[in-house]
Amino acid sequence: MLSNRAAEVAAIPAGVEGAKCGSDKLSQDSPKSVTKTDALLRLFRDLNVWRRGDQRAPHKPLLVLYALGQLQSGAERLIPFDQLEGPLTKLLEQFGPPRRSFHPELPFHHLQRDGVWEIEEKVPLTRRKGSKNPLRSELRKWSITGGFPQPLFQDLKDRPEAVREIARQLLAAHFPDSLHSAIADATGLLLDTVNRSSRRDPEFRATVISAWGHRCAFCGFGIQLDNADLGLEAAHIRWCQYGGPDTQDNGLACCSLHHQAFDRGAVTISDELKILVSSRLHGNSSFESLFLALHRAPLRMPNLKDAHPRRDFLVWHRSEVFRGEARD
Ligand SMILES: [Zn+2]
Repeated sequence: MLSNRAAEVAAIPAGVEGAKCGSDKLSQDSPKSVTKTDALLRLFRDLNVWRRGDQRAPHKPLLVLYALGQLQSGAERLIPFDQLEGPLTKLLEQFGPPRRSFHPELPFHHLQRDGVWEIEEKVPLTRRKGSKNPLRSELRKWSITGGFPQPLFQDLKDRPEAVREIARQLLAAHFPDSLHSAIADATGLLLDTVNRSSRRDPEFRATVISAWGHRCAFCGFGIQLDNADLGLEAAHIRWCQYGGPDTQDNGLACCSLHHQAFDRGAVTISDELKILVSSRLHGNSSFESLFLALHRAPLRMPNLKDAHPRRDFLVWHRSEVFRGEARD
């Protein structure tokens, strides 16, 4: 059965499509002027993502991104849980917060409440005690299928640009820019066009890079072409998607490699401001000089006190982004 929200989208006649052509912003106007594409964007923008304190829970966005990738590739509407379980677990491992175990069955079930998903319960499923969630083993055993409800699936099929825009919107809302193309690759999503997601303060990059002396905080890399920095970026310690501000004490100047490594959780920083490298990271000969040699080395701190990383931002990064244990 369709939720009210999905039914509202289905009821918008396709005829008004294009009335707000060229607009990237969601319409805040009267319902009459809301196009189908606007309504679709809003439906996915309002996903009720579980939050507890500072913890990240990108389970629903990752499931939707996976399902959109499937839709783009021409897959059937309903995806069997046993087919989706492996890839979704891998996405959670790679791009979710570091956790001991992963539960793809939770978004598979809970996304239904957002009106963008339905599962076909062919047989009455056994529930966990005191919970409405069906057991993972049951979903697997009966090959229970889930997918976008039929009218929504058709609307998305008919609007490839809306699909790309929803994917970009979800990425921008839940992950830093540096991870977008890796997540798109992992979900098979085609995003094309330029990244329109940036919410960053343009001053942030310049201020942070300057505070850190135009050098990577990790490896000291600092190369300029004429007067412009080459391959040097400003990373947020606490992601802006999770309330991290565009302030100097939440920024690190990083070369492109260490930016990616920091956002993927391969490296982090201790309260003593030493670099920690994950024991899960390995590689060839450059791995020694680019990572191993940095382990437990002190960060190259900026002179300016205001630019020193704030401790609570570092704590967040270690618990929500850093993967595995620091090496010995
Ligand atoms: Zn570096």
